[in-house]
Amino acid sequence: MYIMLVISIAMFFVYTGLIGNSQMISVMASIEYTLPIWMTALLCILAIFSFVYYRYLCVYTLEEKMKEGQAFMTTSCCPAYTGWVEKHAQALKPFVSETRSPMVYAARYAKEKYPDAEVVFIGPCLAKRHEADSVPEVDYVMSFEELGAFLGAYNIDVTNCSEKELNQDVTQFGRGFAQAGGVQAAVVHAIGDKYSNIHIEGLDKKNQALLKAMAKKPDAQFVEVMACDGGCINGPCSLAPLTLAKKQIKNVLK
Ligand code: SF4
Repeated sequence: MYIMLVISIAMFFVYTGLIGNSQMISVMASIEYTLPIWMTALLCILAIFSFVYYRYLCVYTLEEKMKEGQAFMTTSCCPAYTGWVEKHAQALKPFVSETRSPMVYAARYAKEKYPDAEVVFIGPCLAKRHEADSVPEVDYVMSFEELGAFLGAYNIDVTNCSEKELNQDVTQFGRGFAQAGGVQAAVVHAIGDKYSNIHIEGLDKKNQALLKAMAKKPDAQFVEVMACDGGCINGPCSLAPLTLAKKQIKNVLK
């Protein structure tokens, strides 16, 4: 039995002040023994790997597009944003990266390594459910709230779980993508600021108008877009308040 542990799960519990990142690994191990019906997946902090993979693909795509003379490129890791472009802002479509979300790359990696595994993505995002429909490698999507219900139902006290060592090779850029500006920071870290860059968080009316206007007159060459204000740490199924989440992620990234 394998569990694919997405780093944002750990952060969720850190945000709520319950436990540290490293304890989350053993929490997931408890589920493995407690829930016989639990789906198989891959035990490791895979989202970090996937993000690094995503980051390089995104960087590669950005370099390609700029060389081709494209005016600007936006990220594509937020399915709520790409869905909005599809439905309401078709003029932006040529400027959206074709790179899939980290969930997709993580799931592909898991299926390649363990073909019999069933992959469960656990996160704060509802739009991922829709995205997973078009990705054969992702079998199930579960929210933090649902995970919390499982833990409660099986009497797993996360505060009593022991700590396991985290992968020290992972950089703060790999762990920071969950907050708005994290992808932008990772791209700048990878290729410097030779391309002007901004990030947009939240898809309120003002930001929607700003983005639509960019199809004619872009404000920057690289634009990170997150549909949630604050990024995934403030996703619809994130239970911690944004101010606490921001404070905690700062501590995690030190
Ligand atoms: S920003 Fe919000 S909608 Fe977009 S991927 Fe993150 S949690 Fe999902």
